[in-house]
Amino acid sequence: MKINNPYLNSANSIWVRGNLHTHTSISDGAFSPQDTITRYASLGYQFLMFSEHDLIAPANGLDTKGMVIIQGNEITDEGPHLLHVNAKKKVEPYSDRQKVLDEIQKDSGFAIISHPNWEEDFNHCPQEFLETWEHYTGIEIYNGIVRRLPGNPCATDRWDLLLSQGKFVWGYANDDAHWDENFGVAWNVAQVEKLTLENVLNALKNGNFYTSTGVEIEKITVNSNTISLTTSNAKKIAVIVDYGRRIKEVQGNSICYEISDTFPYSYIRFECWGEGESQAWTQPFRLV
Ligand SMILES: [Zn+2]
Ligand SMILES: [Zn+2]
Repeated sequence: MKINNPYLNSANSIWVRGNLHTHTSISDGAFSPQDTITRYASLGYQFLMFSEHDLIAPANGLDTKGMVIIQGNEITDEGPHLLHVNAKKKVEPYSDRQKVLDEIQKDSGFAIISHPNWEEDFNHCPQEFLETWEHYTGIEIYNGIVRRLPGNPCATDRWDLLLSQGKFVWGYANDDAHWDENFGVAWNVAQVEKLTLENVLNALKNGNFYTSTGVEIEKITVNSNTISLTTSNAKKIAVIVDYGRRIKEVQGNSICYEISDTFPYSYIRFECWGEGESQAWTQPFRLV
């Protein structure tokens, strides 16, 4: 049994926080790009992606307030929405979304499927699409604006189904910021040795990040068959395996979980529960 650890076992790494799903007044958001940057910087974010609807808004000339700005686009028309991360050129919203995903890969960016459980049928993106599409890196397992819209902001159900079928994709959490109340709801925390655009993109593409709505993970380490997790403010940590099965819960802010050689599951991930509705989700550790 080998644990595929997406995290760096490095003492020199830092955690940096960011949002990959942001609309401004250039599309249907309430605030200008500069006001949006200022708001996120004041919340302590270190990276931010603008994701207007079907257009790339260049960030030239803006005061980034020390944040890394990622160029992006939310492919919107003609089908389920998806985020084009590190968009260098605009990809048209072809109704054939596989063609969109192929174009994003050619552009050397990567794709994240937006809010799968949005809308009154909880089915903005049907599961059969998620199962058959190729060339996307992950899905939004939490989308902040869906707290205030029909559907479920959380999509860990979709994620566990994919992971259990061997479709190994990462879970992202984003605000989908449009209005004041959407800012700072859900974020990604990437592990990097230094804050640069390249390092942040690599971490986000390779699963070297966790997602949160308020719980802070301080340390994730893997030693032989044991995964250890320390948080600053979790009250309970749950161990999740195939098909979302919760095989253990511990009270408190940390856990050391030893995986036996006969462990009958294909992956393991951790959900940390804090005050109120706050949570953090690790990426899955694949067991091979
Ligand atoms: Zn959307
Ligand atoms: Zn959006």
